[in-house]
Amino acid sequence: MARLILKPGGDRRLRAGHPWIYRAEVADLKGPWSAGAAVEVVDARGQYLGRGFYNPRPALCCRLLTRRDEPVDAGFFLQRLEAAWEYRRAAGLVSDAYRLAWSEADALPGLVVDRYGPVSVVQCLTLGVSRAAGWIVEALGRLFPDGRVCRLDDLTAARIEGFDPVREEEAGELVVTEGPCRFAVRPGAGHKTGLYLDQSENRALAARHAAGRQVLDAFCYGGGFACHALKAGAAQALLLDSSAEALALARRNLELNGVSAQAELREGNAFDLLRQLEAGGERFGLVILDPPPFTRRKDSVEAAGRGYKEINIRGFKLLERGGVLATFSCSHHVTQALFEEICRAAAGDAGVTARVLATLTQSRDHPVLLTVPETRYLTGLLLQAG
Ligand code: SAH
Repeated sequence: MARLILKPGGDRRLRAGHPWIYRAEVADLKGPWSAGAAVEVVDARGQYLGRGFYNPRPALCCRLLTRRDEPVDAGFFLQRLEAAWEYRRAAGLVSDAYRLAWSEADALPGLVVDRYGPVSVVQCLTLGVSRAAGWIVEALGRLFPDGRVCRLDDLTAARIEGFDPVREEEAGELVVTEGPCRFAVRPGAGHKTGLYLDQSENRALAARHAAGRQVLDAFCYGGGFACHALKAGAAQALLLDSSAEALALARRNLELNGVSAQAELREGNAFDLLRQLEAGGERFGLVILDPPPFTRRKDSVEAAGRGYKEINIRGFKLLERGGVLATFSCSHHVTQALFEEICRAAAGDAGVTARVLATLTQSRDHPVLLTVPETRYLTGLLLQAG
């Protein structure tokens, strides 16, 4: 096996519990190697650090899969997937729709597996993992003998890493249960692997404030928040999204849950629609703001901040007295502290005082690894207007 030798000091991140190696930290690569195959990683003095798949193409050229001296093969993936499943079983997170494996957070960098009923949706994010897909599919077959696997590789990752993405669109619609709700899922046809699983716990939390209230679900996608709110006794819901396909999915989900009669869908830019609602004097008891990431880069965090502030000012102004705002950011570079800062400024501008009912993050089936801060990307606040 090839040996990846790090420069002096190039092992600092690894020793701090983080699995990433950048090209600039590599001194040498010795022995026969091929892109995407496992290499042995050693520090500048030759001390063993672990193994990972190596890819010369991206700047992030290797992510440690193991710190032990063990083969990375079919048995390795089976054992790691079993461990991920065991964590979720013990935590009560195994349900009809959940994330089974979350990349670095499950010591499986480059691999995401979501479960929808009998279907495991496999997303490869690195060349090495895409080359190991056979082992991963085999392992899933052992864990879920009655299930099937659908490959849905990430297109951006495939471009950066240089592999041919495999995307097997599910022919039919799957209907999965999330608490009291049912959702239509078609892996490959919409966003994510089919459902925003990362918001499942927050949908349930927000719904606890819905009974008897008018609900605004802005950036609704499939209307998950609105469905939960209506099932929990909300009087009515208004759903906003700029995408006609998203609204079609939302309509389907409202029907599946028998709550269409209490819902209205509106297509357009939420920035404009929120302003119009405010100008029209509309008020809501529960407002959900779950926008797409406003930035994917560190250098545009400030501009993103202005976007978050703007929609949150609108959100606050649309709240009735005692109303609740569930507001989110899924931009990696917007930290919890920064998001709170932005919301504080928005509340100030809107002339609202707000109690923090809860600080929110991604669902626990998307665990966060303390030593890998990148595993946390979703942050939110549940706020009650005074
Ligand atoms: N809350 C959803 C996920 C929202 S994803 C859930 O729980 O499933 C973000 C959504 O915002 C997408 O559906 C996207 O179409 C929509 N969107 C993006 N930009 C928008 C804009 N400017 N105005 C309205 N909707 C927008």
